[in-house]
Amino acid sequence: MKEDEYEKLLSKAHLMIPAQEEEKNRLEIPKPSSFVQGKKTIINNFGQIVKVIEREEKHLMKFISKETAAPATLAEGKLSITGKFSAVQMNKIFNSYMKNYVLCPECGKPDTKFSEQNGVKIIKCEACGAVFPLKKI
Ligand SMILES: [Zn+2]
Repeated sequence: MKEDEYEKLLSKAHLMIPAQEEEKNRLEIPKPSSFVQGKKTIINNFGQIVKVIEREEKHLMKFISKETAAPATLAEGKLSITGKFSAVQMNKIFNSYMKNYVLCPECGKPDTKFSEQNGVKIIKCEACGAVFPLKKI
């Protein structure tokens, strides 16, 4: 590859990283550490992640199960998903969960809580006060 072509690729790669991505890194949310064992994919640090983002295990488990279209079981802080999924796939699913259920769409902070308002499930941001309907999984 010629040098200027390489430069072009580099600047293209930079453009593809949204500014919000850097925000997220600052929060130090652990990345899912997953590996394939036989016909299953195990997420080692599932319990740890749930603790950091302050969400219920079952909620995140349901989301992952839906995204992978595979049953998942939880034991001792480890999530076991039927099927083989790459670390990249797992990362994508976790990022999507963060975007939909943890990070405030208004201010980008993770200081959100699930709540209920007039019988409607909502996400409330404690940093900026924004309220959003909670999407069904
Ligand atoms: Zn907010």
